[in-house]
Amino acid sequence: MTTSETPAGLPGAASDTAGPASAGPASARPVLELSDVTKTYVLDGVEVHALCGVSVEVREGDMLSIMGPSGSGKSTLMHIIGLLDHPTSGSVSIEGQNVVGMTANELAAVRNKRIGFVFQSFNLLARTGAQANVELPLVYAGIAAPERARRAREALAGVDLGDRLKHTPSQLSGGQQQRVAIARALVTNPSIVLADEPTGNLDSRSGIEVMALLQSLNAAGITVVVVTHDANVARHGKRIVELCDGAVVRDSQVTDRIFAADEIVQLGMNTAAGASAVAPVEGAGE
Ligand code: ADP
Ligand code: MG
Repeated sequence: MTTSETPAGLPGAASDTAGPASAGPASARPVLELSDVTKTYVLDGVEVHALCGVSVEVREGDMLSIMGPSGSGKSTLMHIIGLLDHPTSGSVSIEGQNVVGMTANELAAVRNKRIGFVFQSFNLLARTGAQANVELPLVYAGIAAPERARRAREALAGVDLGDRLKHTPSQLSGGQQQRVAIARALVTNPSIVLADEPTGNLDSRSGIEVMALLQSLNAAGITVVVVTHDANVARHGKRIVELCDGAVVRDSQVTDRIFAADEIVQLGMNTAAGASAVAPVEGAGE
């Protein structure tokens, strides 16, 4: 894998998106804009200020790591960016569209079209095969069965699991389950992939494979946001935003970026997942 690969057919896979060492070019358009976002939870009458005025702008083609200790507000921020939760105050825009004040249905529509999610615990349906798990977002999007099957198989082939279509999660390794989850995140052809501790439940080799996949998606033009408490995982991104007690304490470009494809070579890992580019999902995103 080279970081300059830009398979055709992926959203934003234009020649002017970020190059290998570039970090969210200033000329790229903003895909995410958070301004002075707060989130206050009230639990048994006690207020918990999970986010206290967070402003972050993420441009197309960036790979951002959100880092911070446990309880610093990372997941809360991820839920707000992913339109899974409302901020208490402040504004959130996705691709120039202000989402504050949207109804639940409107939010779901934006979410399904624009955002792919990857979670620490994979969140796959346990008694359901890989292909059917990947098809699920397309069921919600109202895509007809033959087209769903075609796109799901293509997405699974793109994460090197084209030969595991019927396997249920318990018949797959942790790394394979996370790759199914990545295929599910990609099958709707989103412009942004959000990953919350995507390597948290994996051994280090599987974690490297997952980071290789996320980097290859980003090289193909998808904006990637990874939430992690692990500084090494964070260094796979182009930029790190550090949270502490619900506030941004640092926002910096990564100067010593780790490329998972290099780690795979160094470890002599015999894996196609890190070596192959992610296959474009044709016809997705309409
Ligand atoms: P992180 O992901 O960095 O570990 P979180 O965003 O999960 O942090 O949590 C930030 C703070 O908000 C913590 O103090 C946590 O206890 C609190 N918190 C998170 N979710 C809720 C909730 N649903 N109700 C009340 N407090 C919450
Ligand atoms: Mg968390």
